Amino acid sequence: MEILTTAPKRAMAVTPHPDDCEGGCGATLSKWIHEFGTVGCVVMCTNGNKGTGDREMTPERLAATRVVEQKAASDIVGIDDVVFLAHPDGGLEDSELFRSQVTREIRRFKPDLILCIDPYRSVSHTHRDHRKSGQVALDAAFTYAWSYQHFPEQITEEGLEPHRVEQALMWGTEEPDVFVDIRPYLDVKVDSLGAHASQMSSTREERLERIKNNSSRHKEETGLEYAEAFRRITFNLGSLDWQMLHR
Ligand SMILES: [Zn+2]
Repeated sequence: MEILTTAPKRAMAVTPHPDDCEGGCGATLSKWIHEFGTVGCVVMCTNGNKGTGDREMTPERLAATRVVEQKAASDIVGIDDVVFLAHPDGGLEDSELFRSQVTREIRRFKPDLILCIDPYRSVSHTHRDHRKSGQVALDAAFTYAWSYQHFPEQITEEGLEPHRVEQALMWGTEEPDVFVDIRPYLDVKVDSLGAHASQMSSTREERLERIKNNSSRHKEETGLEYAEAFRRITFNLGSLDWQMLHR
């Protein structure tokens, strides 16, 4: 178990639906940005156009609304680099197109660290898009983004370069081993979630209460009153030497 007190220079969140990132790692990202000068980026995989119980709402109108809401939420966190891949909500596939898109964004933004949803859960079920986005984020970071051999047209035709991501922190995990103290950032988390107005039926007070309950779950073991919890994967090239590969 580790309490994380450092931050990456550049952090990219790969997230399935508008509001997932703020719920999973919004306070951590905001803390890094404001206290450590981290530069953040959000890759929004779907357009969230099924996220309503309102039968009068059309998918097209909802998708447009959620772009505006996501920009406002990211603005509260401190991120203006938001990329909308606009796959259909509930229709995310581990396809060559999706893998190439996430690889492209990694090569463009060059994150030291990616944040994504843990796709490996054994006890609890989660939304299909959550599993797909987490899996593709990890695969794009390692091995696609660092290898010339994958999506070479991004290098020969688009002017991008291979990029090596050092690690991933996954939220929504059953086995967290890294915790970030978010105590001064509860308001950012509440307000950035509140920016997704089409998804919120609760009051601000109710949301704050729910966030306090969720983020104090590991209080005993961490000693942190409020924390966001992650599982870490460190990408290891093993016997392959990065310098040798890119001479
Ligand atoms: Zn979601």
